[in-house]
Amino acid sequence: MDCADCQEQVHEYLQREVNEDLAAAITAHIANCDHCEDLYATEDQLNKVIRESCETQTPEQVIDKIRQHIAELG
Ligand SMILES: [Zn+2]
Repeated sequence: MDCADCQEQVHEYLQREVNEDLAAAITAHIANCDHCEDLYATEDQLNKVIRESCETQTPEQVIDKIRQHIAELG
């Protein structure tokens, strides 16, 4: 595992889309490489922001649909 490999795989790694062996190799590389650790932390942060914005939007959309449905019924 070198930096180029790690950077190519880090996105899948964050999505838990890599197999155990590859995940272990990436974990080991990140532990020993500040540059890839930074990249991992940045991607991880980005994923959290995306996930949180999805979580806060979804209920509103559901509520809107329900309101629309109620309006149509009314
Ligand atoms: Zn690296």
